[in-house]
Amino acid sequence: MIELRDVSKVYRQGKREVIALDGVSLRVAPGEVFGVLGHSGAGKSTLIRCVNLLERPTAGEVQVDGRDMLALGPRELRQARQGIGMIFQHFNLFSSQTVAGNIAYPLAIAGWPPGRIRARVEELLALVDLTDKAQAYPAQLSGGQKQRVGIARALAPRPRVLLSDEATSALDPETTRSVLGLLRDINRQLGLTILLITHQMEVLKEICRSVAVLERGRVVEQGKVVDLLAQPGTRLSALCYAPLAAGGWPARPGGRLVRLSLVGDAAAQPVLAVLARRFGVDATLLEGTLERVGGVPVGRLLVELTGAPEALEQALDHLREQRYRPEPVAHD
Ligand code: ADP
Repeated sequence: MIELRDVSKVYRQGKREVIALDGVSLRVAPGEVFGVLGHSGAGKSTLIRCVNLLERPTAGEVQVDGRDMLALGPRELRQARQGIGMIFQHFNLFSSQTVAGNIAYPLAIAGWPPGRIRARVEELLALVDLTDKAQAYPAQLSGGQKQRVGIARALAPRPRVLLSDEATSALDPETTRSVLGLLRDINRQLGLTILLITHQMEVLKEICRSVAVLERGRVVEQGKVVDLLAQPGTRLSALCYAPLAAGGWPARPGGRLVRLSLVGDAAAQPVLAVLARRFGVDATLLEGTLERVGGVPVGRLLVELTGAPEALEQALDHLREQRYRPEPVAHD
């Protein structure tokens, strides 16, 4: 649905050049929620604005829904943008217009007749659960309600793609969850493709199937969120999970410190009980996390295994076979 090929963007400020994007390629499948994660200054805003050509790339190709965006003339581009909604960190609502007026705005611009606009606005108000606020002004709304208006306005012309520019960064954690829940519902109900940029790992874990990690204008990692979190060496798992190190754990005689990865089926097994019953190996839990990402359990554990040396080797073989990816950790 969205494809960037080798996209670069150089800003010129007098004699200075800032390379905001440096050969970025990514593909977003239809109906997918795709996140671009990066620190401030990594190039996220530039990247998302290159999709609807609010910024024109210096080089590269941009395709949205089969259209070569850079080849479009001004009229075709306006039309293509009707198919690409956008929501913003600071909502960008018109303060002098009511909620209904804000939502109607893109439809009026697109030349919809008033009767159809009224019906569509009612539908959207119901979708974002703001029917009772139709005549309120933005200043009378909470942050979460403002973003719901932003979402309704973006969806008004029935776009196939939604771009989200840090849409939950200005919201508290509870409101963030509720807005992400709304985006997830919309994605499922309407099959809308969502490309979002964020610096918040929680946003990725909550709704994104795929991710690209952006650093200094380059994609340094790309894939399914669950797969990248499951692999101990990836940037995503390093960003998400504090390193499980041996610091502070007193060694037991003959004890072996081991990190384990738990993903999907492996996380659903009584692994520690199996070690005890089958191999006579005891496991002491020292540290770890276990959570659901996209409905799949994902976690990491630091355990100390104790038992006869041969039993320990057999237990480690079992852990490797069962894809717990055991990694030995040295005692400090
Ligand atoms: P992010 O959204 O990840 O914070 P941005 O895309 O906003 O990153 O910025 C990437 C880099 O490009 C930064 O170094 C930023 O200062 C620079 N930049 C962004 N917009 C402009 C602009 N209009 N003119 C000059 N430099 C810019």
